[in-house]
Amino acid sequence: MAMTRGGPVRVVASVGAAVAAGRFTSSTVSSVSLGGVYTVGERPQIRSAPRCLGCKAHAVECRLCKGNSTSDWVPSYDPAVARLYALPQRHSSRAQQRLNYAAKRQPWLIRGMTTESAVEAVEAGEIPVLKGTGEGDLSQQVTRKYLIGKTQEELEGIALSFGEQKYRGKQMHQLIYKNKIRTVKELAQIPKQLRDAMESAGWNIGRSPIHHVATSKDGTVKILLRLDDSRLVEAVGIPVKDKEGNAKLTVCVSSQVGCALKCAFCATGKGGFARNLKSHEIVDQVLTIEDIFRQRVTNIVFMGMGEPLMNLEAVLNAHRTINKELLIGQRMMTISTVGVPNTIRRLAAHKLQSTLAISLHAPNQDLRSQIVPSAKGYPLDALLEDCKYYFETTGRRLSFEYTLLAGVNDQREHAEELATLLHQWDLGRHVNIIPYNPIADSEFERPTKARVLAFVETLSKRRVTTSVRVTRGLDANAACGQLRNEFQKTPLQAPMELSVPA
Ligand code: SF4
Repeated sequence: MAMTRGGPVRVVASVGAAVAAGRFTSSTVSSVSLGGVYTVGERPQIRSAPRCLGCKAHAVECRLCKGNSTSDWVPSYDPAVARLYALPQRHSSRAQQRLNYAAKRQPWLIRGMTTESAVEAVEAGEIPVLKGTGEGDLSQQVTRKYLIGKTQEELEGIALSFGEQKYRGKQMHQLIYKNKIRTVKELAQIPKQLRDAMESAGWNIGRSPIHHVATSKDGTVKILLRLDDSRLVEAVGIPVKDKEGNAKLTVCVSSQVGCALKCAFCATGKGGFARNLKSHEIVDQVLTIEDIFRQRVTNIVFMGMGEPLMNLEAVLNAHRTINKELLIGQRMMTISTVGVPNTIRRLAAHKLQSTLAISLHAPNQDLRSQIVPSAKGYPLDALLEDCKYYFETTGRRLSFEYTLLAGVNDQREHAEELATLLHQWDLGRHVNIIPYNPIADSEFERPTKARVLAFVETLSKRRVTTSVRVTRGLDANAACGQLRNEFQKTPLQAPMELSVPA
């Protein structure tokens, strides 16, 4: 046992216990392993000898310094060093098991987290346990259920099902959607008995911790949310002032973790596909941006990571929740798609008042199928035929997105051909021009300003209106998927067979 000025030196056994006891002064945890917390920058202060949280009988000794350490010394993270600090498995608490698992198998789960959020994640059971990891009873968990997405009537039904009064549902509705609480524990107006019962039954609010925030000089904020399975997903908050000077806040939401369609220029496509987002994970992006800006969101665009129509059901549920519970008008929302067979007609049946934006990126099938590989299975003519059906069914004109790639699709003749195509189909005559945001390892380049202006001019001469998207947040990895790729480079594996909706 090591002796120092303050007495025997021990290694802290639990992050939660250590932080709760105020023993750490550091703010950032780079990795957590059995029995050790390793910090970057500041050093933790270890002042007392904690007992093992598992058996409570054994004190935990530092097996690395063997009596030569000073009281505030803890090594930087190194797996070999971490092993020396490891507690025997039989002494591990449930929380330690989770942290150990995460440190070994999913280090990104912990890396970069603040101490508070690491502790919060453990205590809230947000460190996932995947099947087949040999973690025994930890995989026997109550199925998680989420309150985000529930209507007031449904929340009242939940309250009644626990033997409480109906008005508790109304209180929950207010706390979830207006006060934006993050955990069931924060349902402060609700009796503790009900909160405990709901937690035991697996109810969660459905909020995900923020993994990272990047703020651009122009005020754009890009966030990464860490989902239950430790995947990261992006959302972007874009503050603007309208012509009257009113503050507007647009959120670009993701609908999938990654994307399987692999458009040639897209950072998300390059990162691979993991899974569809659940509807509460989509709504959470809006709530989190409102939290960060402390401002009401005015506009939603489904243009973040993923193809919304590949996850149509969750997108429609999220759309309903955003509209009915968060009270953001349908006309304030835009759903963007490169086109997925059989889905535009299905979407038309819902007769949404939101705008459907078609990402064309090219004026003809040949060029389009080079830029958007999925277009090979869903030719331009078939896509525009479905768009025509959408217009006839909903009465809403479509808008078109066109990413300008230098030397690829940005010539005057491309603009001419695009104008001809839009007139021929008469679906809408507005094109949103997006000068390409360069991404790492990309073969494409951003067009010059002169080229963009020439393209716009050609379209307007042909009576096609345009808006050129001002690039926001370039210093915050503006292109969708860029920030996620920076933090989660490992190619994502699809846990299930990917199928196009029938
Ligand atoms: S542009 Fe959209 S559809 Fe294409 S790969 Fe990227 S996220 Fe997917």
